[in-house]
Amino acid sequence: MDRKKDYYEILGVSRNATQEEIKKAYRRLARQYHPDVNKSPEAEAKFKEINEAYEVLSDPEKRSIYDRYGHAGLSGDFADFSGFGGFGGLESIIEEFFGDFGFRRTRRRAPRRGSDLYYELSISFEEAAFGTEKEIEISRYEICPHCHGTGAEPGTTPIRCPQCNGTGEVRNIRNTFLGSFVTVTTCPRCEGTGEVIVSPCTQCHGNRKARVKRKLVVEIPPGVDDGTRIRLSGEGDAGDMGGPSGNLYVVISVRPHPYFRREGNDIYLELPINIVQAALGDEVEIPTLDGPEKFVIPPGTQPGQSFRLRGKGIPKLHRNGRGDMYVTIKVVIPKELTPKQRELLVELGKTMGKEVFPQDKGFFKRVKDVFKA
Ligand SMILES: [Zn+2]
Ligand SMILES: [Zn+2]
Repeated sequence: MDRKKDYYEILGVSRNATQEEIKKAYRRLARQYHPDVNKSPEAEAKFKEINEAYEVLSDPEKRSIYDRYGHAGLSGDFADFSGFGGFGGLESIIEEFFGDFGFRRTRRRAPRRGSDLYYELSISFEEAAFGTEKEIEISRYEICPHCHGTGAEPGTTPIRCPQCNGTGEVRNIRNTFLGSFVTVTTCPRCEGTGEVIVSPCTQCHGNRKARVKRKLVVEIPPGVDDGTRIRLSGEGDAGDMGGPSGNLYVVISVRPHPYFRREGNDIYLELPINIVQAALGDEVEIPTLDGPEKFVIPPGTQPGQSFRLRGKGIPKLHRNGRGDMYVTIKVVIPKELTPKQRELLVELGKTMGKEVFPQDKGFFKRVKDVFKA
C-alpha cells in the first residue's frame, strides 16, 4: 500500500490550525497550483491533492474522523461515515471558490438518439400461443416533412449567429482572486449550431420535428407471454441533429383463457367428471389448443390425478418444439340425487362395506389402535 500524504502536511498547517488558517493555506496553494495558472505537469495532481486535503480538513466532522483514524477512517471502512466518497465534494469546493469555470466545457450540440416508445398490445391466449400479425397506431416525433428538419421555412435560409459569429461557442473572461479565467460555453442564442433561423418553419415552428400518427404492422411470433417485449428498431422518436431514431417496444399483454391456465410453455386444464366416469372410465371430448380432441379417462381415476399430453402446450418462443398440456381431474360428487340414483348408490354401498381405502387396508386398524391407548 502506498502511504498517503498527511493532509496537514499537504496544506502546510499544524494539526491544531484553525478553520481560518486552513482556508488561507488552501487559497494560497490553490492559486499556485491551479492547472489554468500552473502549466507544470505535476500541477493537476497536486491541485487535486490540495483539494482533497481541504475537503476533509474544512469539514469539522471529517476532520475529527481523520484526526482519530487517519486516512483509513475516510476510506469507507467506517460504515457510519456515509455520504463521503473520496472526491465527492471536489466539484462543490471548486465551484465555491472559482465559480463554474473551465473544468467543465460545454460542447456543441451533438447528435442525439431519439426516445424509445412503448406500446401495450392486448392479444388473446391463442394468438400468444401461435403468433399473429397486428396493426397498431402510434404517435411519434418525426423529422418535420415541411422543412426537412432544418426548422426554417422552405425558401428562407438561416443566418450566421450574431452572438457567436457562427462558432457556436461564447468565451467569457472571469476575474477572480486567482486571476483571469476564460470560460467557453455553448452559445445560448444558437445552441451551438452557429446559425439562427429568422423565418421558422410554419409547420413545426422551428422545432425541426413534428408529432405524426403512424400505422404499423407488428409481427408477433408464436410463444410470446404476458410482458414479452417486441422491439421494432428505429420506429421510435426521431433523433436530434442527425442522431438515429429510438426504438419502439411493443409490450404484450395476454388475455386469460376460459379453460386453460399457462405456466411457461405448459398449459393446464381442469376436467370435471362424475363419480361413475371416475370409477368406470370414459371417453370424453376436451378442448386443446389445436381444437377439440378425444380424451380417455381410465377406470379408477382419482380426484386430482393429472395426465400429461406431450407436445400439446405452447410453442417455444424462437425455438422448436412445444410445451405439454396437463389435464387435472376434478371428480364432482353429486349434491342432489333422484330417488332412483339414491337407491342405486345405497345398493352399491352395501357391496363396498366400510372399506374406502383399498390402497391402504391397514387404515381402520390403525385408527382403532389409536383409540385403544
Ligand atoms: Zn418544420
Ligand atoms: Zn451562436
